[in-house]
Amino acid sequence: MQRLYHQDLYDFARPVESYWEASAPLAQAGYGPLEDDARCDVAVIGGGYTGLSAALHLARDHGIEARVLEAGPIGWGASGRNGGHCTLAASKLSIEQMIGRYGEAETKRFFASQREAIELVDAIGHDEAIDFDRQGDGNLEVAHRPAAFAELQAGAEALQRLFGLPTRLMTREAFAEQGYDSREQFGALHVGVGFGLHPLKLAAGLAEAARRRGARIHGRSAVRAWHREGGRHRLVTAGGSLQAERVILATNGFTPEQLHPAFVGRPLPALSNIVTTRPLTAEELAAQRWQNECPTTNTRDMLFYYRLLPDRRFLFGARGDTRGDLGSAGRMRDWMVRRLGEVFPAWREVPISHAWRGPICMTRRLTPALGRLEDEPSVAFGFGYHGNGVNSAPWSGMMLARLITGAPLDEVPAVMRGLPPRFPLPALRLWALRAAYLYYRLRDDVLGG
Ligand SMILES: Cc1cc2nc3c(=O)[nH]c(=O)nc-3n(C[C@H](O)[C@H](O)[C@H](O)COP(=O)(O)OP(=O)(O)OC[C@H]3O[C@@H](n4cnc5c(N)ncnc54)[C@H](O)[C@@H]3O)c2cc1C
Repeated sequence: MQRLYHQDLYDFARPVESYWEASAPLAQAGYGPLEDDARCDVAVIGGGYTGLSAALHLARDHGIEARVLEAGPIGWGASGRNGGHCTLAASKLSIEQMIGRYGEAETKRFFASQREAIELVDAIGHDEAIDFDRQGDGNLEVAHRPAAFAELQAGAEALQRLFGLPTRLMTREAFAEQGYDSREQFGALHVGVGFGLHPLKLAAGLAEAARRRGARIHGRSAVRAWHREGGRHRLVTAGGSLQAERVILATNGFTPEQLHPAFVGRPLPALSNIVTTRPLTAEELAAQRWQNECPTTNTRDMLFYYRLLPDRRFLFGARGDTRGDLGSAGRMRDWMVRRLGEVFPAWREVPISHAWRGPICMTRRLTPALGRLEDEPSVAFGFGYHGNGVNSAPWSGMMLARLITGAPLDEVPAVMRGLPPRFPLPALRLWALRAAYLYYRLRDDVLGG
């Protein structure tokens, strides 16, 4: 199947060498491949948070048996590989841009749904007895240069005034006392919603809960063809086929666009990369005055995201690379290790334990896409969380379960409702991304934003 990135990225049989896999591998027993010609009411393509949450909600809240078809092992996609920041907000539009395009009321609805999405992860954890190592209280954004502190100030004011979010600004000196110190620390904003978690434990818990509630889940069952037969859909895998009344597409950054013509040219996957260190000693943590457990990002356009994990290991993530082959993964790893050492000089020599990557998914309108196809309402879709899917994707799955069972489309905030426009020249998407990365790096490192 034709893909945007190098085929190494789509090798569904290749194990993900993440710290999450090393610390809590997802037991695949019970999620065997589809091996016959089966029927069901709702077929879900993709076994990450979106698809698993859709299956869980269909089975539990709507009494519908869904079947999930996942190309790799369950949780193999971004849902098993991410940084575990369960935070706001799944869009690359500024608040002003969003209000300009969708109005204040819909922007408020979007932020309310994002907050609700964080609460939903907590609620699912509670209701389905999933221990996903919840950690920290709220999230932090750190100014990476002095002028960025004013941006944090303006952001804090808007988050509080428009959306009632609890915010707390800290000067460089105050944050050095309470958070950490570094040569890229010029004050920070604490937003009092969100937390960190173990992403693969969340994926495992969602899969187990969905199965317990009656969903059937098939790993190693890539959908190779999608046919219409009368009023039904037929999804063909290597081992069998699945006939369904309705289909939910939940493949996000791995979306095989040719599977259905409606999705060609709509998603833009971008690579996100993570390295983790071995557990840091108390002396090493003190050397950067590190004393915080909240998921953290900085104000760079090409942002860094990081957190201290429960076993004192440091997780450091960044966007970058537009190729996707194993060689470029190695080069990206080396770059990340160098940058980690530049931002946190005391940890320059600390050995790296794991390095991995995966695609996040963007759209042309810079907001997520959630809805039903207008001319084929038996197909629903959810993608484009802009690297913020830990809260958004489970919420999207919950909403897709509602949409596919007939809920009105306007239950979805306008900011993310329906299909985004196609990229004008779909094949040139990666060149556009390369140009954007060059520009952002220039702003971040040369022009000073
Ligand atoms: C390195 C990295 C770090 C990230 N960090 C964060 C973070 O800290 N916080 C945050 O909120 N978000 C983060 N994200 C984004 C977040 O992980 C995603 O938005 C979220 O997991 C999307 O869930 P999903 O179920 O929609 O997609 P995925 O979890 O990617 O699931 C889609 C699945 O579809 C399957 N698939 C593809 N084609 C087929 C086919 N033909 N047949 C069957 N199955 C198919 C794939 O194998 C894949 O498993 C990160 C992502 C990455 C890659």
